[in-house]
Amino acid sequence: MRIAVIGAGVVGVASAYMLAKAGHAVTLIDAEAEPGRGASAGNAAQLSWAYGDAMASPSLLKHLPGIVAGHDPAFRVRFRLDPDFMIWGLRFLANMPDRRWWSNTSAILQLADESRRELAALLAEAPLSFDYRVAGKLHLYPDAASFSRAGPLVERKRLLGLDQRLLSRAQAEEVEPVLKSYQGEIAGAVHTPGDALGDAAAFCRELTGFAVARYGVERLFGAKVAGFERYKDRLSAVKFADRDALGVDAAVVTAGPLIRTLAAALPEAACVQPVRGYSLTVEWRDGAPRVSLTDVKRKLAFAAIGVRLRVAGLADIERPDAGFDTDRFAVLRDMANSVLPGYFTAQAGEARWSGERPMTPSSQPIIAPSRGIPGLYVNGGHGMLGWTLAMGSARRLLNILSSMT
Ligand SMILES: Cc1cc2nc3c(=O)[nH]c(=O)nc-3n(C[C@H](O)[C@H](O)[C@H](O)COP(=O)(O)OP(=O)(O)OC[C@H]3O[C@@H](n4cnc5c(N)ncnc54)[C@H](O)[C@@H]3O)c2cc1C
Repeated sequence: MRIAVIGAGVVGVASAYMLAKAGHAVTLIDAEAEPGRGASAGNAAQLSWAYGDAMASPSLLKHLPGIVAGHDPAFRVRFRLDPDFMIWGLRFLANMPDRRWWSNTSAILQLADESRRELAALLAEAPLSFDYRVAGKLHLYPDAASFSRAGPLVERKRLLGLDQRLLSRAQAEEVEPVLKSYQGEIAGAVHTPGDALGDAAAFCRELTGFAVARYGVERLFGAKVAGFERYKDRLSAVKFADRDALGVDAAVVTAGPLIRTLAAALPEAACVQPVRGYSLTVEWRDGAPRVSLTDVKRKLAFAAIGVRLRVAGLADIERPDAGFDTDRFAVLRDMANSVLPGYFTAQAGEARWSGERPMTPSSQPIIAPSRGIPGLYVNGGHGMLGWTLAMGSARRLLNILSSMT
């Protein structure tokens, strides 16, 4: 089949590779000049095989009044009278009770496990260079109450076969000595030794190059998709604003947070709300952490990616066309400096980045035929875990597409 994959972020590039490897003639399309420029460009780099916790959760529900009142610097919500946003918000709230949260979380963990295996298979086939490393991860809990809630969750995950360990502060300091000088509160930590790290943007570039060379994927970059054509009520072509349409037998939308720009043809787009985040990347220096760290109180993630150190965080729900807010970089920098002083000091060479997580109300991605046009498929809405879930999502997409044709 001739298949267009629309969007060359981690999800699109993984999908293009998987479809082409299965024998399809794939064209990978992106509005940008190169792959990995969207939400995948500067994310926290964490391959969270054993994290997978859905965003709508009982613990977020507890913090909701403070977030709505603007008392939590890590979150910002601007309410608006937009029916799609209000429906999304109500569905998000409906996913917060424990039963729904755990059902979403265990489904995400299953997909993360599939991803882990697919990535291992890919790396056995292709020598990709993207600073991949099984760094392990420490979740740092600020107080006895939050740490005591982590115990039952670790036990639930243990029953799924996941390896997480509860550590005292002293034990966490043995795993990552930098924590001896950590200025944030640490009542205890959860250690996930098998979690990994990698540069998602470099992965996009490397895997695109490999898929082109090995499986004949065609690239069409700098080309913004404007819609679709039908023939006899089936998808027949992908339309662009500034060039001829591309005839295809099927198309997959992997447009990340920009899926809404194709909403006219794609009812699923209304289920995806962009949640903006920020990151700062500096040169890694002696004394900086090597193990990946997540500060649970401040919702900060630290990652040593090759020779760089990155901090990522903040979750802002704004108008989709609001763009980024330069003041939020200062908020992120202040929070990072309050716990790990001296690294993120706005020095020359600091790379600032902002991107949007494509969130569904359940945090589960949509991997399905579109309800819009027969022949159109969606692989999107991966929220805060798209890097982790990309390879497994690509395999599921291939399975769905194969079963439909
Ligand atoms: C601050 C932050 C930290 C994060 N940390 C992590 C993490 O540690 N681990 C993790 O697993 N995930 C993390 N994520 C989430 C992850 O980055 C996203 O889920 C993931 O990048 C989404 O990938 P994607 O391929 O769906 O979208 P994108 O990477 O955004 O790719 C979509 C592509 O589609 C293109 N496009 C869109 N519309 C069109 C169109 N009409 N025509 C042509 N091209 C189009 C865009 O140009 C873009 O290149 C984080 C996100 C943020 C914001």
